Amino acid sequence: MPLLITFFISLWFIQGIDIGCVLIDIGYESEYHYGSDFGDSTDKSDAEDDPLLMSPSETDSLDAVDHESDSDFSLSSYSTNSNHVRRGPRPPSPEPLWLQPRELPPLELPPTSDDLLVPQPYALRVASIYEVMRRFRNLVRLSPFRIEDFCAALMCDEQSNLLTEIHMMLLKAILREEDSQATHFGPLDQKDSINISLYLMDTFTWAEILRKYLESDANFDRNVLNILTTKEYPFCGIDERLTVLQFLVDQFLITTPVRDDMLQEGPIHYDDHCRICHRLGDLLCCETCPAVFHLECVDPPLVDVPTEDWQCSICKTHKLSGVVDCVSSQEKQGILCRQEHFGFDRHGRKYWFIARRLFVENEEGTEIWYYTTVKQFERVLARLDENEFEVSLCHELNENREEIVRQMTLTESLTNQHKGGKKSYLEIENANIEKMEKESQENGRNEDTEKTEEEKMDGAESNQSTDMDIDNEFSTF
Ligand SMILES: [Zn+2]
Ligand SMILES: [Zn+2]
Repeated sequence: MPLLITFFISLWFIQGIDIGCVLIDIGYESEYHYGSDFGDSTDKSDAEDDPLLMSPSETDSLDAVDHESDSDFSLSSYSTNSNHVRRGPRPPSPEPLWLQPRELPPLELPPTSDDLLVPQPYALRVASIYEVMRRFRNLVRLSPFRIEDFCAALMCDEQSNLLTEIHMMLLKAILREEDSQATHFGPLDQKDSINISLYLMDTFTWAEILRKYLESDANFDRNVLNILTTKEYPFCGIDERLTVLQFLVDQFLITTPVRDDMLQEGPIHYDDHCRICHRLGDLLCCETCPAVFHLECVDPPLVDVPTEDWQCSICKTHKLSGVVDCVSSQEKQGILCRQEHFGFDRHGRKYWFIARRLFVENEEGTEIWYYTTVKQFERVLARLDENEFEVSLCHELNENREEIVRQMTLTESLTNQHKGGKKSYLEIENANIEKMEKESQENGRNEDTEKTEEEKMDGAESNQSTDMDIDNEFSTF
């Protein structure tokens, strides 16, 4: 009888019921739309439905429409007891602020941070690829790594172990899926030789195998194949690297394990067999991953079930600050399937909090800003209008303020730990902001007239541990 696992499953079940109402409430939001994380049409309707985004006069007119619809359709019999019953046809959604033909005072955002090593227009693309690997790292079988290291690997002219491992593990995850779907990559008599070259992939052959894989299906993006045939991949620019990685991540997101992970309710779906001996029995569950163990298989062996939360040795070694301590509570409960944005400002720019940074993306997705330090964040907040134009956005930002500040402080302290004797970019940036605040206080000047900061130290962001450091930390489960 698997005693322990029964206990844990029932516990999980109770939690499942607990969050059940939340799941029903969020309805369609819990469906995952892969590949549409950024800038899709549903987001616009979110904003349109949000009464907080409207100006007071519009809210009034909305009420008026509501009253009319009551009398027009005389639905009083339906709407006596329950507020949940929809009364008559929905009033037309008000236009979002930025689409209305009215003069809006322009909202000038503070200059973007520049601490990530990648050129700033790529920052959000990098973050979106990084987030998939962070969120599904158990399925990709990658150890956690920081976005700063990922940026360094992307910008490095040489081939780094981090970049190699990322490509190989994504490709392996895709090949596992092809295997389970019994895909043939060529004529039957060549099947074995093709499979051998695919599965015996190593750090030297992966790029060639990736090219072969791309050639196997004419429906795959020709641009990606083009990069792999014309360039000496991965010895190319960041744009090409991101295009190839985006393809791999997209392919990975449509595999069955990811789909199962999305559909599963509750935080963790535990394995059936012990990770060490692969047998059944009384199994001890890890608090943070799906692994289960016999008490005697754990190193060192246990006699009694631990009274406190217990973590397996892999999770213990994977406690990477800046990654595993920045997981949202929604994600921990298993109800977050896609990254949610905070809302829109008056120009329709979207605000995200990803990888310890506040990202802002304009409506067309052509311009990106991001803010890394608490001071930068507060400057953005100070420019938003919480009474009229950015009511809902400010509400969301203030609601999450504590967590945002905690994670941003973490970035600053991580930077300080790694910067050695040098001054970091973030310190200079903060000092600049302090100086400007002081000046504007003295002169009574409006903040908008400030000059933009020009002092930018080349590569001062020293948050990146070198790629050599990361190399050893990689392990496959
Ligand atoms: Zn065992
Ligand atoms: Zn674990």
